[in-house]
Amino acid sequence: MPLYDFKCEQGHKFELMVPLAEFHNSQNCACGSAATRVISPVRFSVENVGYDCPITGEWIGSKAQHANNLAKHGCRVYETGETEAAKKAKANADAEFEKRLDQTVEKEFESLPSAKKEALATELAAGADLGYQRSAL
Ligand SMILES: [Zn+2]
Repeated sequence: MPLYDFKCEQGHKFELMVPLAEFHNSQNCACGSAATRVISPVRFSVENVGYDCPITGEWIGSKAQHANNLAKHGCRVYETGETEAAKKAKANADAEFEKRLDQTVEKEFESLPSAKKEALATELAAGADLGYQRSAL
C-alpha cells in the first residue's frame, strides 16, 4: 500500500498509507480539515540507482563512490537554501543588467543628433524592433 504526503487546509502535513482503490477518496487531517495530496520530490538515493559521472562518464554506484567522486572533482552537495540563494542572486544580477542596458540605450539615444532621433522615433513608431549588440569595448 503506497504512502502519500498530505497537507490540510490548516497547513498540517502528514503521511498516510492509502490503498490504490481509495486513491481518489478525500482524506481528512487529525484536526478535522480536508487534506490534499502533496507530490513530494523523488527521494534520490545513490545506493538504489547510481549514475554516470557527468565529468568522466565513470559509473558511480554507491554512496562512498559518490562522496569520492564529488571530492575528486572539487564538488559538493548543495546545502539547504543554497539553490534558492543562487537563483535570487542571478535574478538580481539580471535585473541590474537590464537597468544598465536601459540607461545605456537612453544615454546613446540622447547623444544622437536630433535628425537621427526623429528618424529612429519614426522607425520605432512604425513597429521597428530594437535589437541590441554588446560592444566589444
Ligand atoms: Zn490539520
